[in-house]
Amino acid sequence: MYQLTCSDCPKTYIGQSGRSYSKRVKEHQASFVNGKTDSHYANHIRESGHNFNNNYKILHSENKSNKLNLLESLEVNKLKNTDHLLNGQVDLNKSPLLNLIL
Ligand SMILES: [Zn+2]
Repeated sequence: MYQLTCSDCPKTYIGQSGRSYSKRVKEHQASFVNGKTDSHYANHIRESGHNFNNNYKILHSENKSNKLNLLESLEVNKLKNTDHLLNGQVDLNKSPLLNLIL
């Protein structure tokens, strides 16, 4: 799981990748360069005129997808009360276990 934060504001995107993080970040960059709308991060950079920052931070390295989904929900939850989160709609009720923790 990785986190991408805009270089010009605190907007942050949290994502998962089963492949290499740098490849995934390059895909966000390609979406930005090619004007595609499949990346929330690229959309923000384009709409705001901010600069693309490809320095990602690894939040968790975990191979089990159930655990990753749970960790992702927790990371998203940390930011969901700020206006910094770039992720799309997040369903925090999808995990009964998460509801127990929160
Ligand atoms: Zn920004």
